[in-house]
Amino acid sequence: MSPDCLFCRMQRGEVPVDRLAENGQAFAIRDINPRAPVHVLVIPKVHIPTARDVDWGHAEILAGVFALARDVARIEGVHESGYRLAINVGDAAGMTVAHLHLHLLGGRKLGPEG
Ligand SMILES: [Zn+2]
Repeated sequence: MSPDCLFCRMQRGEVPVDRLAENGQAFAIRDINPRAPVHVLVIPKVHIPTARDVDWGHAEILAGVFALARDVARIEGVHESGYRLAINVGDAAGMTVAHLHLHLLGGRKLGPEG
């Protein structure tokens, strides 16, 4: 855990947030600035700064993150139509909170990556 990290503060209950779903490893919230009809953040409960910092010790956490993304896709009705999972890494990608998270985007035809 990181004391000043926004997502860690959400996980600790210090910042109130509506959880769309959660499991033992991750929780999901709606993006406050959605760029598609469905735009959900899937966030590991443990602080991992970026995908650069992932190692084999995170295997169970990442499985939980992806399993929750699958559940969110079902909840949001895009499981069959398709959706995108995106991970931004660092400033050039527009990463705004330095705590690893997946963007789940869907609900319309998505353009190419980038
Ligand atoms: Zn954090």
